[in-house]
Amino acid sequence: MMCRDRSRSKDTICAFPDCLRNVWKDPDGSFSAFCGKQHRNAMISHPVGTNIPVCKNCQVKPVYNGNGQFYNFCGVRCGRDFQKRGGHPAVPPPEPISSPEVGGSLELASTLVSQKSCSLQTCDRPVWVDDSGTESEYCSNQHRSLAVELGAEACLNCKKFPKILVSGKRSDFCSDTCKQSVIDSAPTMLDLDTNDKQFLNVSNQFLDAWKHPSEVPNIFKIWKIYNKKSDNDRFERYRLLIERKTGLANGNTCRRWHGTKRGCTLGDTSNRTSFCCSDDDDDSCCVCPIIQRSFKLEKSGTRYTFGRFGRGIYTSATSSKADSYVQQNCFSIYKAMFLSDVVMGKTAKMKRDNTVLTEPPQGYDSVVGEPGLALNYDESIVYKDDAIRPASLGLKTQVKI
Ligand SMILES: [Zn+2]
Ligand SMILES: [Zn+2]
Ligand SMILES: [Zn+2]
Ligand SMILES: [Zn+2]
Ligand SMILES: [Zn+2]
Ligand SMILES: [Zn+2]
Repeated sequence: MMCRDRSRSKDTICAFPDCLRNVWKDPDGSFSAFCGKQHRNAMISHPVGTNIPVCKNCQVKPVYNGNGQFYNFCGVRCGRDFQKRGGHPAVPPPEPISSPEVGGSLELASTLVSQKSCSLQTCDRPVWVDDSGTESEYCSNQHRSLAVELGAEACLNCKKFPKILVSGKRSDFCSDTCKQSVIDSAPTMLDLDTNDKQFLNVSNQFLDAWKHPSEVPNIFKIWKIYNKKSDNDRFERYRLLIERKTGLANGNTCRRWHGTKRGCTLGDTSNRTSFCCSDDDDDSCCVCPIIQRSFKLEKSGTRYTFGRFGRGIYTSATSSKADSYVQQNCFSIYKAMFLSDVVMGKTAKMKRDNTVLTEPPQGYDSVVGEPGLALNYDESIVYKDDAIRPASLGLKTQVKI
């Protein structure tokens, strides 16, 4: 099948951080994501969880890794920049975020002084308090960005400042500004750093649920999906309805894997976030449409026609089972899989096929196909669009390198 990814051209810039070269053109006329082998290998040989030193200049990106050797900088641009400054690192520019203000003006701008001291271990200055009395966890923006460099979980949007606490819970963002900008651009997805708790969560669920005898693949990247408001709203409404009806907390919402076809390289690199198509009319990519309009019953079952339990939307708790439905329709060294929120409600457990189902049996909200007679691995089936939404997109290595 022809690769449908036309997002690259001879003018596309190498996906390696800070590399300004144009991408490599293959003899077959297609374009690589990278300028050459060196940058491609450097990007795919970062095993998850290893400690890669941070660039001496930007202090944010991992250093360039060539032939197993770590360099001082993330790329050519940062190396030159550092030299130009006579060996001083770039100072992160102040961000247009409402609070806390840049550290320098701290004493002048703040009229309220907190008893709490800055979360940075070596700092005893009081935390920043904004005009409404809300306390930050840090004294200044400098210490907020330093905290991120030292390993605090970064805002998924700006990646520069730590996530804030909102009523005792870690938000995904550093500020309302960052949160709002993501809400405004939904449907969209943001990549999770490997030190983000959500990354570890999803990848552990993936690894623990790999039941097939084949070798467990490496998770390379995980994207968190932000659905469009109307899709979230109908999901939440349905969840509440099922919770009330069944008395089950959260309507018995579970995280389940879903494998489908991808006709592009969405998510393969951090800058690859534009969707190849908006609906699966061309039938080559379902990943892009699902992120944009969630799951649609009318679109399911075209490829794995009418599954064992009828006309529904199929997921599995077993990652290796969902993997067998993944189809990569153009060249990529990665395979992509969804983790979805599924409102299971009251489940009807079935061991035998029932291919004529168009809804769950009376009194139930979903069907679980249990391994045993007809199945080797579990399947979960819901029969309503509102009962499911995509939560994350995980990319794993397809080819052993
Ligand atoms: Zn490059
Ligand atoms: Zn750098
Ligand atoms: Zn501080
Ligand atoms: Zn932010
Ligand atoms: Zn696509
Ligand atoms: Zn498509």
